[in-house]
Amino acid sequence: MTKHNPIALTEGSLPEDRWRLLQLVRETATRGGLPLYIVGGSVRDLVLGRRLNDFDLTVEGDALRLARALASKHGGRVTAHSKFGTAKWFLPQNLITDTQTPNTLDLISARSETYKHPAALPTVKPGSIADDLRRRDFTVNALAIRLDGSHFGELRDDLNGMADLQNGILRVLHPRSFIDDPTRPYRLVRYEARYAFRIAEATLALIPEARPFVAKLSAQRIRHELDLILDESDAVSMLRRLAALDLLAAIHPVLADFNRSKFATLESDDASLQNRDSRWVLWLMHLSDQEIESLHERLHFTASLLKILRSASLLNANLTALLGLKPSQVVEFLEGYSIKALEVVSCAVQDEKIRNILTRYHSEWWRVRPKTTGHDLKKRGIPPGPRYAEILRRLRAAWLDGEVKTAEEEKVLLENLLK
Ligand code: ATP
Repeated sequence: MTKHNPIALTEGSLPEDRWRLLQLVRETATRGGLPLYIVGGSVRDLVLGRRLNDFDLTVEGDALRLARALASKHGGRVTAHSKFGTAKWFLPQNLITDTQTPNTLDLISARSETYKHPAALPTVKPGSIADDLRRRDFTVNALAIRLDGSHFGELRDDLNGMADLQNGILRVLHPRSFIDDPTRPYRLVRYEARYAFRIAEATLALIPEARPFVAKLSAQRIRHELDLILDESDAVSMLRRLAALDLLAAIHPVLADFNRSKFATLESDDASLQNRDSRWVLWLMHLSDQEIESLHERLHFTASLLKILRSASLLNANLTALLGLKPSQVVEFLEGYSIKALEVVSCAVQDEKIRNILTRYHSEWWRVRPKTTGHDLKKRGIPPGPRYAEILRRLRAAWLDGEVKTAEEEKVLLENLLK
């Protein structure tokens, strides 16, 4: 149903170039007689008075036709994901003036979705805006504002999302929602903490019966939800809540006890920890190598993240071995570890002595090199072989351990070694 719209969608709601772009799409949709809507999270955030960086657009009709009409009038090119009625417009340069703005615009055909099996990807068919709102996760994400022609500003609120939004309530649209798509409980917890909303009791009560279906989600889909959570400033509360709802154990048993994790107990808010990979490491570094390996089978980490995670887990298990070592021995011990793992582990370590050792390695020791190079040894007529590495290692260790402090002293040591 269409309602009076209490939402201000104005120039100030969007970055300047995105607002201009919205006007172009409106004009073309209006001329082509295509009902056009701004939908989903964009409307939710507008109502909450947040400034949008971007928006989601849905067309009742052929999104590809609309995208092609836009590109032929304004330039750029279009690619189609025809199966899902989705078109991507790669914008011409003159339509992007803000460096933060994406260089593409997605246009999506309104659709209906049905689920053949729990956790399967939905079967998608072209549909009306009413169908399109019914396929969504929560009532607060099922709002649309019409943009074309004289309809500009009309609110579609078929599912009472506005009332829930104003009361801060998260509610699924039907009782099978979490079984159809078990990523939704993870989205639910993300919105709950992000907006400090309350989950409707009937919605909360649906989580237990959906839990077994989490196992059916593909690695990519469940990992994506966890990535989104780790991108949030309040990720710790979200993970704690998921643990309490038994939704972490549902992914993999090694995740069950979030309170064992360094992420749960960390007090530091070091800037180097404010990114996704560092947060994965903080969360999982207390696990053993086998546990990480087993979790990787479920989540398919990227190769680079897996390497950092394994390195951090190994380092975390061996930290006490650092105590009492000379700097040169610390360097030898730590050299095999990934720098990223080291950086995160050193922020998370409780023991001050160990933290100091890691910090000194990270800030200075690892780059200490002797003045003498392999080239110098060659000039001295030493036959190439393993002896080079041995001599250079000895010289480096002498610098690290304070046995030599000047180039002169290094020369003396070198002469002794060559004798
Ligand atoms: P965020 O601020 O987290 O990006 P968003 O609402 O923009 O929030 P998107 O993941 O970009 O989230 O999804 C856009 C919209 O698509 C959502 O608002 C929701 O209406 C719908 N949607 C996304 N994921 C699902 C899902 N798993 N099931 C049903 N609807 C979904």
